[in-house]
Amino acid sequence: MHANVLFPINSEAFTYTVPEELRSDIKIGSRVEVPFKRSYKTGIVVALDRNPQSASLKKTAGQKKNISLKPVKSLLDVDPFLSINILRLIDWVSQYYMSASGLALKNAVPSAFFTGKKAGKPRIMYEEEAKKSKHLNLTNDQKKALSEINSVDKGVFLIHGVTGSGKTEIYIKAVTSLPAGKQAIVLVPEIAITGQMIDRFRTSFGNDVVFFHSGLSTGERITQWQRTRNGTVKVVIGVRSAVFAPFNNLGLIIVDEEQEASYKQFEGLRYSARDVALARAKLENIKIILGSATPSLEAFYAAQNGKFRYIRIDKRIEKRPLPEVEIIDMTKEIKDTFSLSAKLVDALKQNVKERSQSLILLNRRGYSPYFICTDCGHTHKCPLCSITLIYHKDTNTMNCHYCGSWLNPESKCPECGRKEITYLGTGTQRVEEELNRLIPELSFKRMDRDTTQKKLSHHRIVRQMEEKKIDLLLGTQMVAKGHDFPDVTIAAVISADTALNLPDFRSAERAFQLFTQLAGRAGRGVLPGKAYIQTYEPDHFVFDFVRNHNYKGFYEREIGQRKELSYPPFSKLIRIIFCFRTKEKANKIIAGISARIRTMEHKNIEVLGPSPAPVEKIRNLWRWHLILKGRNAKELRRTAREIVHKLELTREVKVDIDVDPINLL
Ligand code: ADP
Ligand code: ZN
Repeated sequence: MHANVLFPINSEAFTYTVPEELRSDIKIGSRVEVPFKRSYKTGIVVALDRNPQSASLKKTAGQKKNISLKPVKSLLDVDPFLSINILRLIDWVSQYYMSASGLALKNAVPSAFFTGKKAGKPRIMYEEEAKKSKHLNLTNDQKKALSEINSVDKGVFLIHGVTGSGKTEIYIKAVTSLPAGKQAIVLVPEIAITGQMIDRFRTSFGNDVVFFHSGLSTGERITQWQRTRNGTVKVVIGVRSAVFAPFNNLGLIIVDEEQEASYKQFEGLRYSARDVALARAKLENIKIILGSATPSLEAFYAAQNGKFRYIRIDKRIEKRPLPEVEIIDMTKEIKDTFSLSAKLVDALKQNVKERSQSLILLNRRGYSPYFICTDCGHTHKCPLCSITLIYHKDTNTMNCHYCGSWLNPESKCPECGRKEITYLGTGTQRVEEELNRLIPELSFKRMDRDTTQKKLSHHRIVRQMEEKKIDLLLGTQMVAKGHDFPDVTIAAVISADTALNLPDFRSAERAFQLFTQLAGRAGRGVLPGKAYIQTYEPDHFVFDFVRNHNYKGFYEREIGQRKELSYPPFSKLIRIIFCFRTKEKANKIIAGISARIRTMEHKNIEVLGPSPAPVEKIRNLWRWHLILKGRNAKELRRTAREIVHKLELTREVKVDIDVDPINLL
């Protein structure tokens, strides 16, 4: 008897023999200990062959012919550790994302289960801080949405509800309406907003709600995972990997803010948690709700074509008005400082007087992105990545936001030797400094990756905002998303231009979503809100749609372009990234690759490149990419596999495949 055993490593399964005494107990999904290289390793049985003559085990790696197989050493659990559902999902993920099954397993199951760590006592848990919110009676819009959701027990729903339309309450009631014993997964795009979501779910489900996040200790993670698997938990809330929550009786998946780019993992297994959620719902034959105020073009298109059931809510709770949006033309406006217009500063001052709160978004942390010599124009780039370093004033370093390395700033230009170095551009630290100087009476917190490194520190900052201990929250993306602060009446974008000008086919969509989301944080309570967007490009078409809260108009314009260029949703993309140690190697090998690709024929598939990636170098590797475009996902994957295979690449090239890339940088 043989077993295929999968490990959480970048590989397919390995085959072992099953000794007599384990044969009756070993099952698919069992955890086993097996010899591996010169020691032992824990893995999961993914296939069993009870009758070696009849069936061959699929998808094995690393077994050469005629090698005598080693036996499984021991069985670690009485009941199978992973259910068939999760194994099927892992299999789907590895197929779809063209990745090794082991890598999918690694993302799906906490590593502690393979290293023999024990469940531990929870440390400080978020539970202790949970805040009760009030139970609400549904509005008519919410009732209608709920009864539509409850009318079927499978399929995809897109709830397209403007900011502040009460989507969260619909999610909660949809979970409440599940048959007894059924469980739910709630995915949120950003750890910083989970706090408020958890509070609201706990109001209905108490401690049957658990929170999967990266800040958990090993012990906590094991405990939560086991509780989830044993069915003593009703709801799992989390970012990306919560989509693999090991429920055995899942009834519903909710993906809040489905359009968010952060659902996609950028390294290792490049999966989109939203798309894996859709796949899981289909595999388990259950319902899934995608929610958004600004759906991704893909989702809205699917709704238009009847693939998703569409629920529209176009009014805020209590018919509160959507915020007025003012575009501030920074080429004309009087500026009090480098980053802030007089108009915005006045509005903020007025808001402090009125005891209302404000939110400011700036999409870049640090002090200033350009440390530039005004004499010769020299700027500093990361020596390992071809991107500009960002000056951080608090540490007096120039940091690379890609690889994390840093340099000390020099007092004179390394290029021309003069001392004409200035800072251009702005980051959150600089705005913080300017706000302190211009509005001394303002009390505020900065929230970005630099200030939230400690466990759950976002929650503390969010609490201060909720309890009105501060007047203003300044930060990166994390302030724009999902929060519900009823006393915020001003939401502002410091510099819209970076978002508008990314070299990517989705940049307009992302910008529209970001500004609409941010504006949507204002005026959610009794007082109406206003949004200010500072830009050097006030005539950009995106602003007309943001100003008028016109999603449909934006969609129609954008979908036309996508169609013309046959970008998603009219096609699927696969991006193949080739990485090289040196530029010379890259040039030489790429020339060969190009020549070979030109001789290949691919029906129905458009092959673009290879060309240098817009970010040419990351972590000292030179990057080129090839983009494949086609209508049929399977055909596209087959072609990608074929190309990589036929290129007969050597070890000098590292290949990274990104299925459904969400940026092409
Ligand atoms: P969305 O997720 O659509 O942006 P939320 O679910 O955060 O909106 O709801 C916006 C605000 O309206 C929240 O403060 C919420 O507590 C409140 N709210 C939601 N539903 C109701 C209701 N039925 N009655 C009163 N207030 C509600
Ligand atoms: Zn770098």
